[in-house]
Amino acid sequence: MNQTEDDPDHPADATRAPGTTTRAGSPVGSAEANLEPVVAHTRAELSTARAELGDGGVGVVMTMGALHEGHATLIRQARAHARHVIVTVFLNPLQFGPREDLARYPRTHEADLEICRREGVELVFMPTPSVVYPHGDPGVRVSAGPLGNVLEGQARPGHFDGVLTVVGKLLHLTRADRAYFGQKDAQQLLLIRRMARDLDFPVDVVAVPTHREADGLAMSSRNMYLGEYDRETALCLSRALQAGAAAAVEGPSAVRRAARAVLVREPLALIDYLVLVDPSTLEDVPEWYRGEALLAVAGRVGTTRLIDNIPVNVGPGGGALEVFSEDAGRGHDSNDLTSPPS
Ligand code: AMP
Repeated sequence: MNQTEDDPDHPADATRAPGTTTRAGSPVGSAEANLEPVVAHTRAELSTARAELGDGGVGVVMTMGALHEGHATLIRQARAHARHVIVTVFLNPLQFGPREDLARYPRTHEADLEICRREGVELVFMPTPSVVYPHGDPGVRVSAGPLGNVLEGQARPGHFDGVLTVVGKLLHLTRADRAYFGQKDAQQLLLIRRMARDLDFPVDVVAVPTHREADGLAMSSRNMYLGEYDRETALCLSRALQAGAAAAVEGPSAVRRAARAVLVREPLALIDYLVLVDPSTLEDVPEWYRGEALLAVAGRVGTTRLIDNIPVNVGPGGGALEVFSEDAGRGHDSNDLTSPPS
């Protein structure tokens, strides 16, 4: 065991809510809403609490904190299918660029714990960077490869290497059998699936549909940055996606045209990209393409960068989907409709 594993930033339970290391009167592993979750801050605490969960059926939901209903849907999905649920709350510095919003990212640990309590989470891992990276920034990292350099990766160099590195570490530390990720971060989800596949991580990656506000805005911790007017402006993203999905029966250019028409009416949203891509390659789909495709948008509203996407089925009977099928895109050849006409 590593000498540096206990966090020097938080000695002797300094940040721990009283009575949260164990559930009073109940062992870790009895998931009931409103029971006190075990909160682990150090590797040793995580290891002890994780051992009590036993082998098999452990689900993990990884978050950066500032939990909202979107995160809660992931937790509920995990609780519905896994025997035990672990939530990690870790603001990972490795995935933020030098000019990004790490310093101002909302930190709401008490409220996060309240949501975990309400949702019946058994174990919450809330480490600081020196617990996750006891030797400083890791020199060895997971490379996201070419798919990590497009779309979000183009706007945020190194971002996905940082994401995959921490997801890999948290999978090792939690020894989860299933990991739940939001469709909201479609490229992240794809890359985590690829990492699990390409590097033989023994985990099932489960996609959870995007949870939205009643007016369509995708829930995000970064929505907290939006003032009243910015929030109204931000709605153009989800409206553009809806408009694009509604044109899916007509083919790719109709989808792009319909979505763009909504965005151009909102000059205060500075759009970074709007794309209709193959969900397995992230390449623009050609006009003959039929089948599952990802309509994704990113842009800046005020000082806040927002992303959103919608999986669509392009072609006859087409429209919006909640999540993709496992083998969506032209990475497989069972669907003649995704081959060019001869
Ligand atoms: P974050 O804390 O932003 O890193 O998100 C943690 C997890 O929650 C990721 O898998 C996200 O994709 C997922 N997530 C964030 N927002 C939503 C949402 N509105 N609906 C569904 N999942 C979400």
